Amino acid sequence: MKDWVSFDRRHVWHPYASVLNPGPVHAVRSARGASLELADGRWVVDGMASWWCAIHGYNVPELNDAVSRQLERMAHVMFGGLTHEPAVRLASRLLELAPAGLQHVFFADSGSVAVEVALKMALQFWQPGQAEKRRILTIRHGYHGDTFGAMSVCDPVTGMHHLFSGMLPRQLFVAAPAGQQWEHAAEEMASVLGAHGHEIAAVILEPVVQGAGGMRFYAPAFLRQVRRLCDAHDVLLILDEIATGFGRTGRMFACEHAGIEPDIMCVGKALTGGYMSLAAVLASHEVARGVEAGGQVLMHGPTFMANPLACSVALASIDLLLSSPWQERVGRIEQAFRDGLESCRSARGVADVRALGAIGVIEMKQPVDVSSVQERLLSKGVWLRPFGRLIYAMPPYVLSDQELSLLVQAMAEVVHEL
Ligand code: PMP
Repeated sequence: MKDWVSFDRRHVWHPYASVLNPGPVHAVRSARGASLELADGRWVVDGMASWWCAIHGYNVPELNDAVSRQLERMAHVMFGGLTHEPAVRLASRLLELAPAGLQHVFFADSGSVAVEVALKMALQFWQPGQAEKRRILTIRHGYHGDTFGAMSVCDPVTGMHHLFSGMLPRQLFVAAPAGQQWEHAAEEMASVLGAHGHEIAAVILEPVVQGAGGMRFYAPAFLRQVRRLCDAHDVLLILDEIATGFGRTGRMFACEHAGIEPDIMCVGKALTGGYMSLAAVLASHEVARGVEAGGQVLMHGPTFMANPLACSVALASIDLLLSSPWQERVGRIEQAFRDGLESCRSARGVADVRALGAIGVIEMKQPVDVSSVQERLLSKGVWLRPFGRLIYAMPPYVLSDQELSLLVQAMAEVVHEL
């Protein structure tokens, strides 16, 4: 096809974008290491790791091999009534890595679906004896995905509630903790649990980092307090580790910062090293028992559940992560963000600068003009996708020192130019 980019412009939807009046897109020809090759021949450092997934970068020999080897056996087979080694080995590996109380695994095909499944688990858990427990409590500024259940627990202002009002389940929201200021949020949560505990099935949270809802970091002490409150009020705790899992915050899972265990945990994104879509919901034995009390079973079963290619590449990605000095790599990225972005604090229009693990954030006072900032960054050799008031990066862990300084410098320069 000769002019495929202009066909894209006329016919193809991109995320959160107009199909009738499309903004700019850049064609990618290939990707290697931490960089993308654009169609015009430019190589740019990918500071987004393809929406936070490609932790090992691109075209990774070990991951390519895992896909090719599995492809020769079978690309896919249904999971209903059949099973296969990649799924079971991946389940076992996930349970080894995750908090000890999690003992059962449900494979979903994307992060949003994993959140739907987690919510279903929590609702089905209470159905046999306490069917009135069917609301979900969460904090503001959250993001959990774009499907209906997931949207219902996203931030009610910046999320999509206004577009679907009356159609989303009505959940309960309390203030989000802000950095080290978490007591107020915990008090509000305690009082809502006190008043509504009898109708709340679960609390859902992104642990320590609220991602797409604003790249906000909060004190792990808040999580410990939420765990205590959930226990005291007989409410399940769901942790959405889809963005934070597999080392992004400096720990394998962000809940480890707080030393707590959820009842249900969602993982996705970096699970396959960014090779393909796969997510998983991990649950405690108590949750599984509760869901199946009264002879019911968990009512979910995607066509591509536990896709063998995805499971094989996920196993290879986890092996690669565990055999790499990932903590050192993530620590090095955090330090580079801290050192390199510090100067932005005094730049005009900057509200805050922060870093945690392999996440570096510059928060502006006003929304940024995404395409103009993007063009400036591209001209400096860097691909980022700012949103709202945020210019942020979550790069592959494997980027070289040179690529890391190019990324940090480009971010700092662009902010000083604004
Ligand atoms: N939960 C969190 C915390 C996320 O960051 C995301 C994706 N940004 C999702 C859920 C949804 O995942 P997916 O896009 O794979 O549906």
